Amino acid sequence: MTEAPLAYGVFSVAGGAHRIGVRSGDDLVDVTGVHDLLATGSLTPLLAAGFEAWEETRSLVEAFTQAGPDPGRITPAHSATMHLPFAVGDYVDFYSSLHHATNVGRLFRPDSEPLTPNWRHMPIGYHGRAGTVVVDGTPIRRPVGQRGPGDFGPSRKLDFELEVGFVTGQGPRLGSPIPVAEAERYIFGLMVVNDWSARDLQSWEYQPLGPFLGKSFATSISPWVVPLKALDDRRIEAVGQNPPPLPYLLPPGRGLDLDLEVTINGKAVTGSNTNHLYWTMSQQLAHATSNGASIRAGDLFASGTISGPTPDSLGCLLEITANGQNGEYLQDGDTVVVASSVLGSCSGTVVASRPT
Ligand code: CA
Repeated sequence: MTEAPLAYGVFSVAGGAHRIGVRSGDDLVDVTGVHDLLATGSLTPLLAAGFEAWEETRSLVEAFTQAGPDPGRITPAHSATMHLPFAVGDYVDFYSSLHHATNVGRLFRPDSEPLTPNWRHMPIGYHGRAGTVVVDGTPIRRPVGQRGPGDFGPSRKLDFELEVGFVTGQGPRLGSPIPVAEAERYIFGLMVVNDWSARDLQSWEYQPLGPFLGKSFATSISPWVVPLKALDDRRIEAVGQNPPPLPYLLPPGRGLDLDLEVTINGKAVTGSNTNHLYWTMSQQLAHATSNGASIRAGDLFASGTISGPTPDSLGCLLEITANGQNGEYLQDGDTVVVASSVLGSCSGTVVASRPT
């Protein structure tokens, strides 16, 4: 394991002001004011400033932490409260794991081909709800909704989804797609994502327009944003794509090698890796803007559930229960942690639904 990469977060101590910090072992270093763009308790101004500013800031922050900051700048991580690190703009969730898409297709549409005809031609996704993205540690209230015809009540099939996500800077003006070869200039950094899902609500509502209330009640992210540029030693060749994508999705860009693990109440449930993703971040962003849709600083793009080919690498309980393991969806009081040794971790505890 190499040294942990730079990671930015927003924290406070004892109810004080929000400050910007970077990880340093079990501590965090307060870097507020080290650059003009780190003047407030949010990463949003930095995100809005663009690629050149990101690199300039990263150099300054790395030099600052390596120089041995004043002890007054160092806080034990356990005594800090972490906050949502940026104002989430739009939120898109992709569906970019071949194994996950195939497994879910088999479960939801047993009489059809598991993979829909479009899946290998473009990164499929949906627009989620940005306002319900919450930071690590936020309790997750069990959603209530339609579980089937005439059946309204608390979800009985609450699930996690093991994912990663990236946050963008400001894109070009409306009507100007981001070319795939330039996409990484708009990707600031990555975090772990848990796309909480109510399977009973989802399976009843999703046709014909896709996920809605079965997903929109909460999405958790880890508190640290790791700059993509700090992950150079984790980059890998993109997987082979067959059939070859259309020219606007080529060259594919590079993938990432980031391990991921899920525990429930401290017990390991599954493990996966971003190297199982079929579509790259560059292809996702190029596709999402190919129609001329613009992006803003703070837009969040999640990968979709990342499942691998083996029974111990399935990225959600929907697949795990279908595979005959564990057999149960989440119970009230369960604490789910999705963790990456490189990016950090994202925890959430299920609390009972409100009475209906
Ligand atoms: Ca998802």
